[in-house]
Amino acid sequence: MAPRKLAAGNWKMNGNLAALDQIDELRAACPAPACDVLICPPAVLLHPMAARAGDMIAVGGQDCHANAAGAHTGDIAAAQLKDAGATYVILGHSERRADHGETDAQVAAKAAAAHAVGLIAIICVGETEAERDAGSTLDVIGTQLAGSIPAGADAANTVIAYEPVWAIGTGRTPTLDQIAEVHDFMRDRLTGHMAGAGDCSLLYGGSVKPGNAAEIFAIANVDGALVGGASLKAADFAGIVTALD
Ligand code: PEP
Repeated sequence: MAPRKLAAGNWKMNGNLAALDQIDELRAACPAPACDVLICPPAVLLHPMAARAGDMIAVGGQDCHANAAGAHTGDIAAAQLKDAGATYVILGHSERRADHGETDAQVAAKAAAAHAVGLIAIICVGETEAERDAGSTLDVIGTQLAGSIPAGADAANTVIAYEPVWAIGTGRTPTLDQIAEVHDFMRDRLTGHMAGAGDCSLLYGGSVKPGNAAEIFAIANVDGALVGGASLKAADFAGIVTALD
């Protein structure tokens, strides 16, 4: 087995029922992609998107609760995501870590809950600009990996996304050498943290666009992308999917 190639779109808190037309456009633009294609819409769009997406496009959640059910107003259980048609869930995105104070331990607990129902967890890690400037990027990534990956994680149920916080939604990206350094480090560090580490998909995320996707995908140990803004327009996301083919 080799790492699965994955183009994953994160719609964040964007989109509505009318925006599901983008799914039809994406299917038309990429009728037979050579990589896995995933869109993670807001939770209310999961079920209708799954119905529109067919076999070619997987759908996923953007978060789940660590508990299976109960008195957690506003939260969503992993089993509910699955019931709505999700096969993946993004966990520990930097916006969740910043806006909701999510810790590595909470991310690991959520990932364990996702695994328990058969969802693939996309666990996000990434340094802030201050941490990069301080020269502590690899320490930060190593700590996040060690704390956010639960027991039982393996290459089949877990994807890791490296997303420098300062590159998300800013139009700025690390140099290709900087991305390569972190991805090589992650591949190395995963050995010991998960079974089949060499086959775990490692995504880069942060201002990926059709214009820079190919050079990023050419980097060793980059197996795809987690894409925010450019996943909202089918034409842009199709350009990224095609670059990964
Ligand atoms: C993200 O939010 O995961 C992301 C990578 O966003 P963008 O592509 O817009 O930088």
